[in-house]
Amino acid sequence: MLTESIQNELIEIVGVKNIQVSNSSLLAYSYDATPGFQSLPDAVVSPRNTEEVARIVKLCNHHRIPITPRGSGTNLSAGTTPLHGGIVLLMKHFNRILEIDEENLTVRTQPGVITESLIKSVEEKGLFYPPDPSSMKVSQIGGNINENSGGLRGLKYGVTRDYVMGLEVVLANGEIIRTGGKLAKDVAGYDLTSLIVGSEGTLGIVTEATLKLIPMPETKKTMLALYNKMEDAAHTVSSIISNRIIPATLELLDQPTLKAVEDFAKIGLPTNVQAVLLIEQDGTSTNVQNDIGRIEAICRDHHAREVTIAQTKEEAEALTAARRLALTALARLKPTTILEDATVPRSEIANMVMAIQSIAKRNRLTICTFGHAGDGNLHPTCLTDIRDTDEMSRVEKAFEEIFHKAIELGGTITGEHGVGAMKLPYLNLKVGSAGIEAMKAIKRAIDPNLIMNPGKMFVFLERQRLVVQK
Ligand SMILES: Cc1cc2nc3c(=O)[nH]c(=O)nc-3n(C[C@H](O)[C@H](O)[C@H](O)COP(=O)(O)OP(=O)(O)OC[C@H]3O[C@@H](n4cnc5c(N)ncnc54)[C@H](O)[C@@H]3O)c2cc1C
Repeated sequence: MLTESIQNELIEIVGVKNIQVSNSSLLAYSYDATPGFQSLPDAVVSPRNTEEVARIVKLCNHHRIPITPRGSGTNLSAGTTPLHGGIVLLMKHFNRILEIDEENLTVRTQPGVITESLIKSVEEKGLFYPPDPSSMKVSQIGGNINENSGGLRGLKYGVTRDYVMGLEVVLANGEIIRTGGKLAKDVAGYDLTSLIVGSEGTLGIVTEATLKLIPMPETKKTMLALYNKMEDAAHTVSSIISNRIIPATLELLDQPTLKAVEDFAKIGLPTNVQAVLLIEQDGTSTNVQNDIGRIEAICRDHHAREVTIAQTKEEAEALTAARRLALTALARLKPTTILEDATVPRSEIANMVMAIQSIAKRNRLTICTFGHAGDGNLHPTCLTDIRDTDEMSRVEKAFEEIFHKAIELGGTITGEHGVGAMKLPYLNLKVGSAGIEAMKAIKRAIDPNLIMNPGKMFVFLERQRLVVQK
């Protein structure tokens, strides 16, 4: 509970309509898309502009009240669970695209804009914003920036970081800074834009972003390659890349995922094969034609049972939409769905897929695998029931084995979902204790009172100080 006087100060800043303290509201913001983590905030506050954000942050910093920034809450690393109470800062009023600059090819936007609406708005002007997380119908640009999200087009076009040119950020002391901007070149001082991207709300609150746009590719083709053996599909992925072809999309789905997606979407996906690759290429008609022909030949060389090319735009869109539904479709099968994010160099994709299968078998678990195979970014997804404590301990063991295997193969514990509270115990595996200390030093320098999204990324012994004022 916040003191009455702090509540009154918050009301004075945002107005009574923009602060919620009722139990039902607090419950709704106590969790996100990550199973197994829940904690009630003391208030949910929705500022309407940057100045209000700055005043709220100053107040919270003064009273050491934790702040958990929240976009749409779709993150998969427990990044928006208010583990230390305090306030959830909802960005719902920051929902405007401020400017599409067709001369500089940039878009200036507030962070609460839904990813897909930003993509569609710039497409209307013949421009392209490539980062397309599967959650894009719901996720917000601010969430994408803070998780450095990737998507189906990441292989060719990169991830959110590659498109963030400038930010307006309210730091943990309430100061407002602007980093970068529309400039194609800018090396004035440390690159604070890059520091904030992927910082998971632990350094400040993003209140505006300038994003890079590129011209829309002239054309696009989509194909499916079907395999009787998962190994063949995985080897095809490495082979396409080693043949110097970078498709726009190169996604892998195993048979259980295919079955779940087909059952949900009913678009006629084959369910009697062990694996499917969804491949897209875009660019000029000549290049696309050429690449699709070469990719088809590589798929057949690796024993694809069938290769089909979508004949219409609608057919192609149905295939990519089906892939985006993978997690949603799997989540219907069991009470708890735990989706992971292990990533390996592309050359190791086949080894990683095999390792996941044998880890699942050894631990007597159902783990389905799909993901951005071309990026080496796999989403082993365990279908389980959080109430079954015996099975849950096997799930934990299996994921620990998966992370160790990813690191052994030169990979990482998370390719796009972030550390949050969920991957916190494993961060050491990737960055080591010296790496964690360096990150903590940055955090302490920017947020000495540790008010920004505490309990995420790493543990601070002083965190007990973060007791909310009674
Ligand atoms: C079905 C499904 C599919 C998904 N597919 C993908 C995928 O393909 N690729 C991928 O990368 N991820 C994917 N995700 C994960 C998730 O959608 C992304 O991490 C997304 O970027 C989160 O956006 P959000 O608006 O929901 O952010 P939230 O979950 O609300 O927040 C994410 C993090 O950002 C912080 N934050 C949010 N807004 C701000 C702000 N304005 N300032 C400071 N900090 C802020 C929060 O504190 C939190 O740490 C998927 C999730 C689901 C449920």
